[in-house]
Amino acid sequence: MLSVEEYRAQVLEGVHALAPIDMPLLDAHGCVLASEVSAPWPLPSFDNSSMDGYAVIAGDLVGASNEHPARLTVVDDVPAGFRATEVVTRGVAIRIMTGAPMPDGADSVVPVEKTDGGTDFVQINEPVSFGANVRLAGEDVLMGEVVMLPGTYLTSRQLSLLASVGKGSVLVHPKPRVVVISTGSELVEPGTELRKGLITDSNSYLLVAAAQEAGAVEFRVPPVLDDEEIFMTALEDQLHFADLIITSGGVSMGAYDTVKAVLSKLGTVTFAKVAMNPGMPQGYGHIGPNNTPIITLPGNPVSAYVSFETFVRPVIRTMQGHEDIDRPYVQAICEVELTSPPAKRQFVRAKFTGADKAKVTPVRGQGSHSVGGLSKADCFIVIPSGQSEVTAGTAVDVIDLRNW
Ligand code: AMP
Ligand code: MG
Repeated sequence: MLSVEEYRAQVLEGVHALAPIDMPLLDAHGCVLASEVSAPWPLPSFDNSSMDGYAVIAGDLVGASNEHPARLTVVDDVPAGFRATEVVTRGVAIRIMTGAPMPDGADSVVPVEKTDGGTDFVQINEPVSFGANVRLAGEDVLMGEVVMLPGTYLTSRQLSLLASVGKGSVLVHPKPRVVVISTGSELVEPGTELRKGLITDSNSYLLVAAAQEAGAVEFRVPPVLDDEEIFMTALEDQLHFADLIITSGGVSMGAYDTVKAVLSKLGTVTFAKVAMNPGMPQGYGHIGPNNTPIITLPGNPVSAYVSFETFVRPVIRTMQGHEDIDRPYVQAICEVELTSPPAKRQFVRAKFTGADKAKVTPVRGQGSHSVGGLSKADCFIVIPSGQSEVTAGTAVDVIDLRNW
């Protein structure tokens, strides 16, 4: 029996970030940047107004008050996207909108709310400090500055900056294309009639969604019967475009464990027992002309999910170009006493509790088939192998599943 770490290291061996490609900005959303980006111009790229108001010389408003308002001649009007054709000199103002370039000669902007809003003359009842409401060129980003490093995960916030520095496309690691194939002659599609002895295929929905949450582009194959030829055909159909294939079911000791039977013959897929609960039977390897990685997960839904989190998610994140491929362990207080088989690492499906979510308690339904229990969980309590019990009120290691 292999430890979780030993098996995980084997699965991850030889897995690399997918080769970078240039992608239009919106398609790069959720990808990891593969090259450095620097700013070809400063941000802001010109001095501009941060308010709708009047561009003035601050010196003209010294001592302005209700009793002694300043009265300036308005010589021009600049909306955003235009430049003033006049300059600001003593006694003169130019009406200006947010984002419009500062007219030559002006050093400050008085917000329109602090004026009478006049269009030929404007009356202002208070002074303005020098430079007020002016956004200076380069105050955010300097020209030539490196604004983003390879390895940066591109969310909305990063796309905003990339667009601002003029990048219409960027070099990124593409999202891995992950194919999910459920196997089992008992499986039918949700929404179809369920005869006795059959169950709906829940694993492909679980795994497709989990792959998507991990950052993959996912493809779902309808459930495949426990038949060697049918399974092999389904698999071959997917080989030409998948970066990773995930199967569920058919890897235990049963007489109809097709996945194991078919893939064992190829010699490039290894099956192992891993010291974890749930999720002991595992398999991984490479198949087809492109040596496509395949990970074969056990069929019990909770086993499949725990295995996905432990082995598949790190593979997907590595292919995506992430450095940080694992969910962090956090500490929380376990509310109840727990026991665990000491030979295996135990992944207890649990829920954060308490106002500050600093405690955890196991959900009801801890069977490896218990999708009801799984649906209520937002974390795993991890009991390391070698430990057989947890005392109520003590700290435990927890994997937080709340964030994708
Ligand atoms: P297996 O690993 O094929 O022996 O399956 C173990 C258990 O998981 C059996 O009770 C199966 O019916 C169940 N199972 C297998 N595949 C799925 C699936 N796609 N959706 C839900 N349950 C499944
Ligand atoms: Mg089966």
